Amino acid sequence: MDTGIFLEAETFADLGGWTVDTQSYEAFGSFYLLAHGIGKPVRDAVTEFRTGERAQWHVHVRTRDWTAVWQRGTPAGRFQLLIDGKPLENILGTEGPEWNWQKAGSIELAPGCHTLALHDLTGFDGRCDAVFLTPDSAFIPPNGKEELGKFRRELCRTAVTDDPEFYDLLICGGGYAGLCTGIAAKKKGIKFKIIQNRPVVGGCGSSEIRVWTGGKVNVPPYPRLGNVAAMLSPIKGAAGLKKDAGLFEDFRKSALFEPDRELLLNEAVIGAETDPDNPRRITAVITRSVRTGRETRRRARLFADCTGDAVLANLAGCTILYGSEGREVYGETLGLGKSSPLVMGHSTLWETRERDHEVAFPDIDWGIEFNDSNALARFDCCWDWETGQYRDQVMDIEYIRDYGLMTCFANWSFLKNRSKRKAEWRNMELEWISAIGGKRESRRVLGDLVLTQNDIEKKIPYEDATGSITWSIDLHFPDPENRKKFGEAFQSCAYHRGIGSLYPVPYRCLYAKDADNLFLGGRCLSLSHVAFSCVRVMRTLGMLGEVVGMAAAICIRRNCLPRAVYSEYLDELKSAMTEGIPMDPPFGWMPGNEEAYHFMRPVGMFGNETENCWYHFGPQGDPSEAIPEEIGHCLEELDVIHKNGKPYRVSGK
Ligand SMILES: Cc1cc2nc3c(=O)[nH]c(=O)nc-3n(C[C@H](O)[C@H](O)[C@H](O)COP(=O)(O)OP(=O)(O)OC[C@H]3O[C@@H](n4cnc5c(N)ncnc54)[C@H](O)[C@@H]3O)c2cc1C
Repeated sequence: MDTGIFLEAETFADLGGWTVDTQSYEAFGSFYLLAHGIGKPVRDAVTEFRTGERAQWHVHVRTRDWTAVWQRGTPAGRFQLLIDGKPLENILGTEGPEWNWQKAGSIELAPGCHTLALHDLTGFDGRCDAVFLTPDSAFIPPNGKEELGKFRRELCRTAVTDDPEFYDLLICGGGYAGLCTGIAAKKKGIKFKIIQNRPVVGGCGSSEIRVWTGGKVNVPPYPRLGNVAAMLSPIKGAAGLKKDAGLFEDFRKSALFEPDRELLLNEAVIGAETDPDNPRRITAVITRSVRTGRETRRRARLFADCTGDAVLANLAGCTILYGSEGREVYGETLGLGKSSPLVMGHSTLWETRERDHEVAFPDIDWGIEFNDSNALARFDCCWDWETGQYRDQVMDIEYIRDYGLMTCFANWSFLKNRSKRKAEWRNMELEWISAIGGKRESRRVLGDLVLTQNDIEKKIPYEDATGSITWSIDLHFPDPENRKKFGEAFQSCAYHRGIGSLYPVPYRCLYAKDADNLFLGGRCLSLSHVAFSCVRVMRTLGMLGEVVGMAAAICIRRNCLPRAVYSEYLDELKSAMTEGIPMDPPFGWMPGNEEAYHFMRPVGMFGNETENCWYHFGPQGDPSEAIPEEIGHCLEELDVIHKNGKPYRVSGK
């Protein structure tokens, strides 16, 4: 008899309109699917499974009622499970705030192949981790992190295979820091790979999060540093503009790398191995494919942690810095009275549009109850929609993101449906809100030097100066008024303090003290909380990523470790920084090997968020996403010969 069938939701053959959430892997050991439809049910996620004999199958779904946390109203994220098109009896996502196995129902199945679909009912972020089918009516799968992890691995037969390649540098994380490190490594001719857990690159600067790049590049003492960061910055987008997904140019950035050989998308770093004779040396990372669950061991001489959450440094046992240091720690006047977990908050940025007609939004009864005295009369979002300032940005990220989503939805629903001033929002549409949100600050890592407010303000000179900070000290705090009103703030305020003149970050902040072959990038750098607040902007972090790529090339050439670049080969690094990474200037439009068709179609016709419908093709002439049939026929009719010498054909021939 079949013992049980375990289906990881994120490995379903067709995800439909569901989004994979990769952020809680450290917290609960799995990725999960999210029905992020902004109040409109998303398309079904569908997969197939096989049964060996006729039996009554009992179907369990690992899910939760995410709005039960706020103890009000109907569960927001409800969905159903369909098997061979038939809905099972129970509505899912309704049994309390904790992740748990909810019984979807029972069904008799003949031997053979069956379809299974997650059918969203609300568009309000229902979620599914996995589905388990068993003929044993008494069996309930384990739920604890450890036992469930073991159970998953046994049923999914997960084994780790070896990547046959040996890399000079493995870059973990494909935000601005990781990408700039990768391009510098590529230009310096070393063998590298970027491992990025999302379907797109760019991190906070991608279409998934939509933050505009800040900070200046090509400034003293190394005016040729920053060419890469400048080239990656959006060509058309800029602060103050509406954040259309296309303006973040995810594809232009990923097209700079050879797919799979230099850049792995949808692949997460989940483990690290160190040399048994020298635990300070990382030998390999274990990565997991988000879409297939396959795990791979990847070996390298050098590693760079550009994950923003210091995932690799933490796995390798490095000293982690978190929160705001008290004044006594580094003698900073802007340090707090005593050390605190306070970090700059996470933001689920959102966008609205004014339409020429009335736009409805569901009148929801869950989450915080807003009224005319506590609602925020906002027409748009800004940087200040911020949550989780006192929480752990890695282990509590699901709650932190959910608090951002819930407050936005509940406030917007009130403005649209019940506010005395609701006429002002009549034609406004909540067009987009980030499904994963952006982290401003998370774990930092101890390097050989921790940069502080004193270094920046007193302009302490260091011989290993690299790229310069040009942003202000920009500290965010939970807005006291918002905190008083709601208990936990979802709005922040900022304190800015100009740094007078630019200040270069020392090289010793760019590698870990406790792991000999680990470079640091981006938000993981060795900085105090106060110093972090002005180093953290994307062009600056990108420029420092270029320095890491250059230093890695010196390590390979000299057969040395990152620390020796400071102690023995600093002159070589200085020459490399003086030279910079020559880059072709970004094209005005359609750079790289990309080809694309641009059709104007009504919003939502093909899942398009605006009237712009773009269909991109990679260098081999393959579409980078499924082309709707109707558009496919238009392309056939146009009969344009692509760079690969062939026109597009619906049949693919
Ligand atoms: C709302 C908001 C507003 C901001 N405003 C500005 C601004 O105006 N200008 C500005 O320049 N900066 C701004 N910042 C700061 C800036 O965006 C970040 O500091 C910067 O993007 C950090 O870059 P990064 O590459 O270090 O990290 P990220 O951009 O976070 O990229 C890290 C990448 O690593 C991936 N990753 C994480 N874990 C793993 C893993 N285990 N395996 C593989 N990949 C992994 C992540 O998915 C992510 O894509 C803002 C940030 C936020 C959140």
